[in-house]
Amino acid sequence: MNTILRLPDEVIMQIAAGQVVDRPVSVVKELLENALDAGSTLISIDITGGGYQGITVVDNGKGMHKNDVQICYQPHTTSKIASVDDLIALSTHGFRGEALASIAAVGSLTVASRQANSTRGWKVEIEKGVCVTSEPVGMPPGTRISVSDLFRDMPVRKARKIAITRSSQEIVESVIRLSLLYRLVDFELIQDGKRVLHARAVSDLSERVRHIFGEKYYDNTIPVNHSDTYYSFSGFIGKPVISKSHALSYISVNHRPIHDAALEKNIRDIYGTLIPARYHPFVLLNISVPHEEIDVNIDPQKNRIHLNNAPRLYSVITRHIQNVFNRYNLIPQPIAKPYSIKMDKETQGILNDSIDLWSPEELAKATILQVNQCYLVWEHLKSIYIADQHAVHERILYEHIQKGFYEKVARKSAFKYPQPVVLSLSVSDKSLFEQYISSLETTGFTFRKEDDQWCVEAVPYFLKNRDIDDLLAEILHHMSSERGSEGGTVLDHVTHATITYMACRKAIKAGDFVSEAEARRLIVKLFECKNPYTCPHGRPTVQQISENDLRHMFKRS
Ligand code: ADP
Ligand code: MG
Repeated sequence: MNTILRLPDEVIMQIAAGQVVDRPVSVVKELLENALDAGSTLISIDITGGGYQGITVVDNGKGMHKNDVQICYQPHTTSKIASVDDLIALSTHGFRGEALASIAAVGSLTVASRQANSTRGWKVEIEKGVCVTSEPVGMPPGTRISVSDLFRDMPVRKARKIAITRSSQEIVESVIRLSLLYRLVDFELIQDGKRVLHARAVSDLSERVRHIFGEKYYDNTIPVNHSDTYYSFSGFIGKPVISKSHALSYISVNHRPIHDAALEKNIRDIYGTLIPARYHPFVLLNISVPHEEIDVNIDPQKNRIHLNNAPRLYSVITRHIQNVFNRYNLIPQPIAKPYSIKMDKETQGILNDSIDLWSPEELAKATILQVNQCYLVWEHLKSIYIADQHAVHERILYEHIQKGFYEKVARKSAFKYPQPVVLSLSVSDKSLFEQYISSLETTGFTFRKEDDQWCVEAVPYFLKNRDIDDLLAEILHHMSSERGSEGGTVLDHVTHATITYMACRKAIKAGDFVSEAEARRLIVKLFECKNPYTCPHGRPTVQQISENDLRHMFKRS
């Protein structure tokens, strides 16, 4: 009996759609790209429920003819290419003619569009890929596309449904990315009825940087500009002070926002020790290369492209940035480390607290070695134990801070600023911030709103010496990316993320010297923890090599 069957069309479409639209942000990105391809100068995006509930994009672009509205949602329908040659000289975002069809396969889709020379528009409503309404509609010239109930029929995808907050944040980021490429376009983003971004058209890209990232970035970016017969690029690089512990690169090639780890690393390398290890510089680069040098057709979501002569381009860029650096005399200054890498008094205090409870006898006697300034190794009941000093300390601090938190110590030991400090948060951080305020406040922060500006009145005591804007940006980023291995409800998740962050930043690192006495305290403290075997991120703290394992290893049978 034959077992190979042809899949029903609906299933084929859903599988294909999965490659193009896997999350609400990919739908938003596709709709924005269509609006930009249509030459719009005004684009408004309205999102509800992180985009799962609804996404509407309205533009004032060239619109579609009635006949085009009626087929635009079908697979492989595009007005942007007609032949393989067109694919090479492509200047539009779209070319596959798949986005609307994919969206129609995973949600309800309404497309309404009017061309300027028509007196009215045309509207179609698509359910499960099938047109259920097709009728005239009164509307201004342009296009309005609405998507609702995304992924409702797909249990698997629904199960993976990422937190709504995270999805909203991804959408803000994606709008920001495109807005940095199209400074002449007015972008408005509304989330659950609240306007979170309104970037008006500006004549100078630096104005958009100021609007999106705030004064501090505006003041600390250096323009870069280069053009030769082959390549040209322009944009901004950040001075070391605005580097961050998370990636801050906004790179585009031929008007396509891309992620290019190799190029980002090359640029990071120029900064060398000007910024702390694991920090990333702010980079905004819009690059143009000859069409025939790139292949855009390698990623269904168009986040990556293939560059033919990548090393040559990279070297032009790095050489240029290096020159700019020299011109601006960015002399290496000692960068204030976020925390001293030595155990500070408070940490030592935490470890010393309950010294009497500590010592199981064997451990008190065991010799503990520090290996490679990273691992602690000792013998206990005929086994060899190996611990990761950073993970161990993180676990101890995590539980300690968490305990304090639940006992409301955090609030009592808050540090109150003499004067409230006005926050200068970027647009994307601000929207995240407003969602997390109450959770942040339970960990010792106090905020106040004055004339539409947020001020911070108090912070948890041991964070008092940190730059508050940087600190918040880092915590918020951490919160939005942390999946929360020990979280459950949203509040638990947020609290977990905050405390994990605090523990991680306070913990001794690989490379720090730990004396034997300190090592002993760390290990004893670890086994007093409720969950001693993993760090708050879920990595193991300790590994055991048992007597049996050793016997096997040496074939002693
Ligand atoms: P692609 O962008 O790859 O061509 P899409 O499925 O995204 O494929 O869109 C199909 C077609 O619908 C486009 O080629 C374009 O002609 C039309 N279209 C979609 N969105 C818009 C819009 N906002 N304004 C004008 N035309 C649009
Ligand atoms: Mg498209």
